[in-house]
Amino acid sequence: MKVIEKPGTVRLSALPPLALYVHIPWCVRKCPYCDFNSHERTGDLPEKTYIERVLVDLEEMLPSVWGRPLVSVFIGGGTPSLFSPQSIDTLLSGVRARLKLEPDAEITLEANPGTVEAARFKGFREAGVNRISIGVQSFDERMLAALGRIHSADEARRAIAAARASFDNVNIDLMYGLPGQSADMARADIEEAARAGVPHVSAYQLTIEPNTVFWSKPPQLPEHDACADMQLMVEDLLRGAGFERYETSAFAQRGRRCRHNLNYWEFGDYLGIGAGAHGKVSFPDRVTRHERIKQPREYLNAAKTGADREVPVSELPFEFMLNALRLVDGFEARLFTERTGLPLVSVQKALDTAEARGLLERDLKRIAPSEKGRLFLNELLQLFLPNSGTEP
Ligand code: SF4
Repeated sequence: MKVIEKPGTVRLSALPPLALYVHIPWCVRKCPYCDFNSHERTGDLPEKTYIERVLVDLEEMLPSVWGRPLVSVFIGGGTPSLFSPQSIDTLLSGVRARLKLEPDAEITLEANPGTVEAARFKGFREAGVNRISIGVQSFDERMLAALGRIHSADEARRAIAAARASFDNVNIDLMYGLPGQSADMARADIEEAARAGVPHVSAYQLTIEPNTVFWSKPPQLPEHDACADMQLMVEDLLRGAGFERYETSAFAQRGRRCRHNLNYWEFGDYLGIGAGAHGKVSFPDRVTRHERIKQPREYLNAAKTGADREVPVSELPFEFMLNALRLVDGFEARLFTERTGLPLVSVQKALDTAEARGLLERDLKRIAPSEKGRLFLNELLQLFLPNSGTEP
């Protein structure tokens, strides 16, 4: 007998890998370009209450992921390094008590120079963190001041040295296209990052986002062409130093790609706990998203911390491509069906159009953005939007 499926249903043959994101929403000061869910600290942080709350949050999500192990944990923010190693230890012990971690699970914590000293890094390592991501942004005092950062270039250097003493897996975040930045200044930053002895660098172009101080009082940024040149220079310099670009802004030495972020880009599942965190959980017949309350105080006190929704089937192709086409090498063709539960033929027209416009390259196994596609990623992604005119 033929099984008749409801129109608009999906069927996943296997569930994707599962990761965990924990959001710590406080910073010492709000940076003028920042549109993350981060809040200036006023007085002591409610570390203990907050960790208890996120663990309750996690517990409430457990029925949706029973039996699935975690491949990675990412403690992001905000500035998670404002929390003590003891709090991070309580958090990770609580996670381990509720969910199984893969033996080689990657556990990252974001840290900002100026909020950490060497002893803290050692404590984070002892708590089970095995990867540190440091928000350096620039090694130039003028750029750090223009970005409203609280740390100095020397504090950034000391934080990297302290991190390397306890961790072999370290990322540094850098920014370019900064107010008043020349090509030489950007070059000096990238060269110092490449020499810093870390296996991963994330280099982001500064963008001006709504609801930020820079949005209401825009600084003078380098011209568009100068920023495009900086982007090429970043790629060249890091490639020359043995880093491979594997995503729009991510560069890694061999074997050091960030597994947590790769799981996002490969449309894997992740639980999001903590104020404003969001996540994605797949079931055999549907894909869902969840989002937690944004305001830390409200999050701490609300009876229910967030809401879930099912992703409409018509949006799955775009959501998948939004992530997977950020990867320089693209994705294996079979992954589309594995992660969305839809046949590849459902995006055939969009793929054909993208290929005809030179935005995409593909063979029987792999689908990847072309160089042009990476430069005009939005144009490429638009082809996969519902009602884009490229539905079958
Ligand atoms: S330190 Fe990071 S998260 Fe905090 S305000 Fe600055 S950019 Fe945002």
